[in-house]
Formats: sequence, structure tokens, C-alpha cells
Amino acid sequence: MTAADRPTVRAGLGHRGQVTLILSLLVDQLSAGQLPDVTGWRPRSPWDIWWVCFRTGLPASTLGLAHLLQLGARMAECDACRRLVVDLTSNAPTHPGPDGDNECGCFTAWAVSLRSPEPQIHWPALVSGVAMVKPGTELGAVTDLLSVDFEIHERITRALTVADVRRLYPDAYGAAFVSGRDAYLTSSPSTVLTLRAKTPARAGTEYKRSIRRALGHGDLLRNHLHMPDNPGETWCDLRLLAGDHNDLYRRYDSGHATDRVDHYRHLLGLEQPRSRAR
Ligand SMILES: [Zn+2]
Repeated sequence: MTAADRPTVRAGLGHRGQVTLILSLLVDQLSAGQLPDVTGWRPRSPWDIWWVCFRTGLPASTLGLAHLLQLGARMAECDACRRLVVDLTSNAPTHPGPDGDNECGCFTAWAVSLRSPEPQIHWPALVSGVAMVKPGTELGAVTDLLSVDFEIHERITRALTVADVRRLYPDAYGAAFVSGRDAYLTSSPSTVLTLRAKTPARAGTEYKRSIRRALGHGDLLRNHLHMPDNPGETWCDLRLLAGDHNDLYRRYDSGHATDRVDHYRHLLGLEQPRSRAR
């Protein structure tokens, strides 16, 4: 293995950690008015690129990722998947279907990898936030718990479509699980809460888990609450669930976007660029 073949990511960074850091890097580059730049990133799979595009709802070209999908880009890849991802991300990104729509099995293997246990990332705190209270959960119990740490900015009743559910959970896999999830989350309206943190410190996976524990028994699907635990997915979910007009992230969190970009680069082991285009 030559130096150029070595992955650039730091030890201890898992697969999901890597793609959520790339998503957050791109979102905060946009928030800071920088051009998207992931120089040095070596995706493990073309599906990593698709995930970032599909989650944001933006084509690969807008996110500066299209060159990574060119033939010969250095990535452990299957050419059928590479070509499929080019098609799926060239305009408004679309989902290939629960099993990846290819016979090769790469999509499912990739989804399993993305959902495997891995070390957690210490994410920078935000002021803006979003939570979705799932069908069957008592809204008042959730708002009581969240109100300790957040002001509830807006309360939106939202009837999710299957397309919305796919945008929220692009990497869900297994036909039975996916169809059960679609049926549950579209069975009755959910409530979307946009949030403003009283102190921009409490976020992340452990916070969401503590709310779920306080609400009592749940399972992988019926777990009361959807709440992104990192900046990139917060930006995505505010747009998807509260609408493109929602400007909480820009209003409260764009001021520190440049610092977060530097932090993600450090965690990803990417070089700091020599100059930043604005
Ligand atoms: Zn494949």
C-alpha cells in the first residue's frame, strides 16, 4: 500500500461518522458562503455520495461531488452502482428502492455497514434544532421534556409521504422493515417541532436517547422521536420537515459555520485549503 492508497480518515471514525461529517462539512460550507470542497475525501462506496445528495435533496454537481463518480475515480466500487448513482444524483436526487435496484447486492451491504455500531462523534453544538414526534406518541410528554432545554419555535402537523420517509432514512434496508416503517410513519400525521436551544450544548445521540428513555418503552421503529444529532442532518431535516422557507439554521447557526468546517476537516483528516473562495 502506498501513501496515496491510504484512507485519509482518522482512526476511530466509522462509516456513518465519515459520511455524516462530509454532509455536515458541505452544509456548513454552504452556510459560510464557501464553495463546496471535499478534496482528499475517499468515499468507500458510490452510495456514500448518493446518501449525501439524497439527504440534502441537492444534485452531486451542486455539492461538488460529481467528479468522484467519474470512471476511474479511486473508490472500491461496482461499476453498475457507480453508473446508477450518477443517474440518481444528476438532477433532484431520487431513491433506488429499498434494495438498491441492482442485482449486485452492494446497496444492502453498504446500508448494513452504515448502520453498524461505531464510535460516536462529539458534534459541535447548535442553537437551531428539529424534532419529529412519531405517530402514537403523546405530544405533551415530548414537549414537556424538550422544553427543559429548548424553546419550541414552531409546531407543525405533517402527514409524511413515503418519499419523505425515504429522505429521512435513506439507508434503511430489508423489504419487510422498510414497508413496516413506511406504513407506520404514514399511518397518521406526525408533529414537527422546530427548536431553539436555551444553551447550545445539549444535542447528539445521547440526548435523543435520554428523551426516548424518559418516554418509556419503544422499539427500533416505534421509538417516539426522530431528532437529528449532527449539524448536517439538522439542516436537512429543517428543510424537509419544516419547509424550504425555514431559516432557523441560517439565523442562529451560520455565524459559527466556518469554525465547524475546520473542526470537521480535522476529524476527517482532510487538509485545510490554502485559500477559501467566497
Ligand atoms: Zn453494485
